[in-house]
Amino acid sequence: MRYYSFPDYCMNTFGRKLYKIPLDASFTCPNRDGKISTGGCIFCGEGGSGDFALKYSGQKLDPEKIPYVRNPQAGPGNFIGYFQAYTNTYAPVNVLRNLFERALEDDALAGISIATRPDCMDGDVLSLLEELKNRHPDKFIWIELGLQTIHEETARFINRGYPLAVFEECLNHLKQIGIPVIVHIIIGLPHETEEMIYQTVNYLSDKKIDGIKLQLLHVLKNTRLSQLYHQGEFDVLDEEEYLKILCGCIARLDRDIVIHRITGDGNPEMLEAPLWSLQKKKVLNHIGHALKINDISQGCLRR
Ligand code: SF4
Repeated sequence: MRYYSFPDYCMNTFGRKLYKIPLDASFTCPNRDGKISTGGCIFCGEGGSGDFALKYSGQKLDPEKIPYVRNPQAGPGNFIGYFQAYTNTYAPVNVLRNLFERALEDDALAGISIATRPDCMDGDVLSLLEELKNRHPDKFIWIELGLQTIHEETARFINRGYPLAVFEECLNHLKQIGIPVIVHIIIGLPHETEEMIYQTVNYLSDKKIDGIKLQLLHVLKNTRLSQLYHQGEFDVLDEEEYLKILCGCIARLDRDIVIHRITGDGNPEMLEAPLWSLQKKKVLNHIGHALKINDISQGCLRR
């Protein structure tokens, strides 16, 4: 493979493929409930990036009865409980303990992955993660952080609500307690140049994060981003531009970083642009072809 994909990582690490079960634990987000702002990140849809997630309150999971799970018959221990919707550490620690503990005790799951914001990872949450990690050595716990960009002007424009220094501090703390970190970035944010995107990738490579999701910017209905798009404030990437930048990102990404996603993923019914991204199989084929004809492999242009 020309890049270190998530399925490859699973085969190397666990000797088998693992499949995610997206979960919605009914949290909210401080960037939406007024603690930081009420507007949320301008690209965030009504479902808080968890449109297809299963409502979860600690019940035993039966993958065969859950829609949208890939390979539901894979059997016990072959799934990841992915706390996806909204901010999954934004709750009292006793609530989080109960929820994560139940998931880690579920024999359907090999581990859990928790999507959150770096400003929702205080000392109590870090201690909880450490405690759970020690109590469940046979399971894994990953944290997924929505960084999107390292550039403060873009972060302000998208209303991310925290500066880069907060991300950096959180990453250091998670490294200290040995929790792997997967970082989400968005390719094609308004007013970001190709070079700015590569600066984000170089920064994350230098930080030796464990995994990355490279997400194409999606304009979703009923978002602030959609309003700006229709006002002509910015344009979305066409497929050719995306392929070029994506290849550039992969070329600059440290070889040890697992790439969990290389396209957009979301609710097709809510997508306004770019519509070419709906043909996911075709896009994936085009990515493979672009990497091949340009002879790009992960890290080949790493500083
Ligand atoms: S932090 Fe996540 S859930 Fe909150 S507004 Fe931003 S994208 Fe949405």
